[in-house]
Amino acid sequence: MPYTAEPWRIKVVEPIRIPTREERERAILTAGYNVSLLRSDEVYIDLYTDSGTNAMSDRQWAGMMIGDEAYAGSSSFYRLEAAVQRYYGYPHVIPVHQGRGAENILSRCLVRPGSHIPGNMYFTTTRAHQELNGGSFHDVIVSRAHDPSSEHPFKGDVDLDALERLIHKVGADTIPYVSVAATVNMAGGQPISMANLTALRELTAQHRIPVILDAARAVENAWFIQQHEPDWGEHSVAEILWQMCALTDGACMSAKKDSYANIGGWLAVRDPGLAEQARNLVVVYEGLHTYGGMAGRDMEAVARGIEESVQEDNIRARIQQVAYLGERLIQAGVPVVRPIGGHAVCLDAAAIMPAVPRDQFPAQTLAAALYLDSGTRGAERGVVSAGRDPVTGENRHPRLELVRLAIPRRVYTRSHLDVVADSVIRTAQHCQAVTTGLSFTHEPATLRFFQARFAPVPAGSADGVSGPYTALTAAQKG
Ligand SMILES: *Cc1c(COP(=O)(O)O)cnc(C)c1O
Repeated sequence: MPYTAEPWRIKVVEPIRIPTREERERAILTAGYNVSLLRSDEVYIDLYTDSGTNAMSDRQWAGMMIGDEAYAGSSSFYRLEAAVQRYYGYPHVIPVHQGRGAENILSRCLVRPGSHIPGNMYFTTTRAHQELNGGSFHDVIVSRAHDPSSEHPFKGDVDLDALERLIHKVGADTIPYVSVAATVNMAGGQPISMANLTALRELTAQHRIPVILDAARAVENAWFIQQHEPDWGEHSVAEILWQMCALTDGACMSAKKDSYANIGGWLAVRDPGLAEQARNLVVVYEGLHTYGGMAGRDMEAVARGIEESVQEDNIRARIQQVAYLGERLIQAGVPVVRPIGGHAVCLDAAAIMPAVPRDQFPAQTLAAALYLDSGTRGAERGVVSAGRDPVTGENRHPRLELVRLAIPRRVYTRSHLDVVADSVIRTAQHCQAVTTGLSFTHEPATLRFFQARFAPVPAGSADGVSGPYTALTAAQKG
């Protein structure tokens, strides 16, 4: 397993402590078995998300000091605009407070009741904004994306036949745009290939349907193209990123991912009319079109983060760190989504706990068990995150039932990842015997995974080893 030493050294440290077993038991009970409701000081190694949890560089921090806080015409905005134009190549840049701000504006501009938006797997906030504006999302990702054991290097590709069938079924004029994620977060950070993006561009051009990129991790996607796609090995990550964007009409960006920022985002488009419409809305929902809900210092940090993100040594170290954790788990036989994605290692909770019914939330259960074991926090990406079907009211059952261990950029060392690997291996062993999971005691109406509360489904089996909590406690005490 290649692991190049990090291309940075540590200048500032943030102390963390390991909560005791008793503290963890109390904390998870208080949190209703939802790791999203834990307080961060109750967590030892926090792999809940790689969003906004990155370590900024000294250059970014220095930029914060010279951020221009002018309400109108901040010079920091113009530096951000120039960085987006240079590295992503879109002419019109509209700042927003974070990615979902861009999704809100874009959906309000383009989605109407009756609209259909195809995409390579849903993302929680993206789909929520499409649905809030009356649209419906259609998953047109290749079927291998739903197969955790498929080793295909580009599991984020769009199934072009499925997209074409949808276009013929609903009509091109009901499809305001195709939403393309690079990489695909919900599939575990799986990339889309340049060949597929190119073919998608050709297909959508025939039908005059725009393509909007979810660019949150497009730099990570570009790295995978460079490593695995024929013809692209000699190109820089920056060149590949630019070419990916060249195949699309615009992008929503959460700068809390690739751009090493703690907050921020942008919407960028090629069409001047759409840009004008978006600027009018940004003033209503985010802030003036030269800050969009960000402080001047945040825009400065994002602008500098963009430059750092495309540096080859930074992106190599980033992806290799994630791969290292994944390889350790694969070697120990823990079922994970393969190949390892760009930002996260995803545990296949359905395979780890085959006896727990999907409606008892195996991934939610496993996330709670992992926290109890070591104070490591992952995130549920399964039935709870998928929510209910707006028409039938039933739980959606995505084929993947995952606990996502997302690695913040430049934050943890290899020793932290070893602690996590040891804990996952132990927990997966303990959880094999588990037969029951969790049930809701409180279920919010939208994005329920953030604030839902649960209780263990009572133990019922003859051996008395039912429920994650019981099994884990028994295993540790016995
Ligand atoms: C994080 C994320 C978003 C939303 O961005 P926020 O900054 O969290 O609002 C949208 N799409 C993808 C793929 C993301 O990972």
